[in-house]
Amino acid sequence: MTTDARKLRLLMSLRRSGVTDAAVLGAIERIPRELFVPASFQDRAWEDTALPIGHGQTISQPLVVAMMTEALKLDDRRKVLEIGTGSGYQTAVLAQLSRRVYSIETIKPLQDDAVRLLEKLRIHNVTMRHGDGSRGWPAQAPFDRIIVTAASGGEAPKALVDQLGEGGIMICPVRRAADQQIMVRIRRENDEIKSEDLWPVRFVPLVTGSSGPVTDKRIEE
Ligand code: SAH
Repeated sequence: MTTDARKLRLLMSLRRSGVTDAAVLGAIERIPRELFVPASFQDRAWEDTALPIGHGQTISQPLVVAMMTEALKLDDRRKVLEIGTGSGYQTAVLAQLSRRVYSIETIKPLQDDAVRLLEKLRIHNVTMRHGDGSRGWPAQAPFDRIIVTAASGGEAPKALVDQLGEGGIMICPVRRAADQQIMVRIRRENDEIKSEDLWPVRFVPLVTGSSGPVTDKRIEE
């Protein structure tokens, strides 16, 4: 099967699963997912499945990327904070649909690869940070949207909720029990925080407390 045929099959499957936002589907269609997976998984890049990207981490399943992106209700005025860059795939999708994305990753080699890939794809409205994302990015706060792609224990990290601007939307997988995670959507309206459970999910854990110097990298023109 050609890449185009695989791509079409994935987009149809996303639609069947209830993803209706044409802008989100368009972004998924445009971003070459095959570049974000290891060479040994090339032929599976357009399957609706999470795949290993090394360092014990995974590139998220396309349906999960699509549903999370849709839940954020993005537009080109939005400033987005992403925690857990990983392969940079979700970052690239977000960058298509917002003004600027700030993305934080703790594992340096993953961040380095993501920077190189986004430069290659000429996606310039992204700034990457190597560090612990659970502390957020205070110098750039408030954010219109926040997306966390690793599961935090009990509830969403408070530092992140604090950096969500008025009218803002945040989505974050939260671990409620040893084997139970729920995607939670948090909104700030009239300075009140509202939280709702969306759907059950499975994410790698958010690893907090890592120290060391924080380094930033703006994707160069
Ligand atoms: N959305 C990405 C990857 C998700 S995997 C993709 O689709 O490719 C989750 C990522 O979160 C991993 O790369 C992991 O290293 C990172 N991570 C875990 N804890 C983190 C933290 N405290 N701060 C920043 N990144 C973290």
